[in-house]
Amino acid sequence: MSTDFRSQESDRKELGGSAPKIIVAIDGPAGAGKSTIARHLARHFGLLNLETGAMYRAFALKVLRTGLALDEWSAADLQRLAGETIIHLVPTSGENRVFLDGEDVTGELRNAAVTDAASRVSVFPPIRAWMVRLQQQMGSAGGVVMEGRDIGTVVFPHADVKIFLDAAPEVRGMRRFEQMGAGQRGAKAEQQPEEVIRELRERDKRDRNRADSPLKPAEDAVVLDSTDMTLAEAVKAAERIVEARLA
Ligand code: C5P
Repeated sequence: MSTDFRSQESDRKELGGSAPKIIVAIDGPAGAGKSTIARHLARHFGLLNLETGAMYRAFALKVLRTGLALDEWSAADLQRLAGETIIHLVPTSGENRVFLDGEDVTGELRNAAVTDAASRVSVFPPIRAWMVRLQQQMGSAGGVVMEGRDIGTVVFPHADVKIFLDAAPEVRGMRRFEQMGAGQRGAKAEQQPEEVIRELRERDKRDRNRADSPLKPAEDAVVLDSTDMTLAEAVKAAERIVEARLA
């Protein structure tokens, strides 16, 4: 279990030494606009953007590649596999690149099978503990926007800014549908919007009801509900929340 921070350090240098050393935690369910908003905040404030979901996705890909169905895995076996796994996140101010045991798997992480498997492996406490440790190492120097489900509650409970992004499931599902290129909708030729919304609800339910680190707003998070906003409006609102904190 390890990661490599050399690229991260060079990004920090590129971004310049003047970037604020704050930690911005962005949590919320799928399709709430976290990635768009986190990327914008990273660029706007000169922070590194760390997409923690990509780490769960990379590990899920490794599990899928074993060919063994997910329900055949015990927590102990998953933990053993995690012990042989190196996940390397290369954060920039834009999209993250993800390396699994040295292989760039960024392009393989967004299909339906990996999306479902990531939601399932993330329920296991030893996997969460491993991920949380890596994420804390990556963010400890500050100057980051970290996006996920448990950043403000577990990974960085003392983050300088916590935003919990939410939106009605139908709105999130439609946004997700529109974002997904045909290639990302999985091997199943084309997913209908209803199917995307149904799968998103299932993942939400799993995230919100798991015993370990369920998805919920931290007590001191600013909840931003973008149901009736455009993404551009939500981005602006998030920017103002961070600005207020920096001021
Ligand atoms: O954010 P993204 O959809 O890429 O995350 C993939 C899955 O990883 C989510 O469905 C969620 O179950 C899990 N996850 C998590 N904790 C995080 C980030 C993601 O449990 N901090």
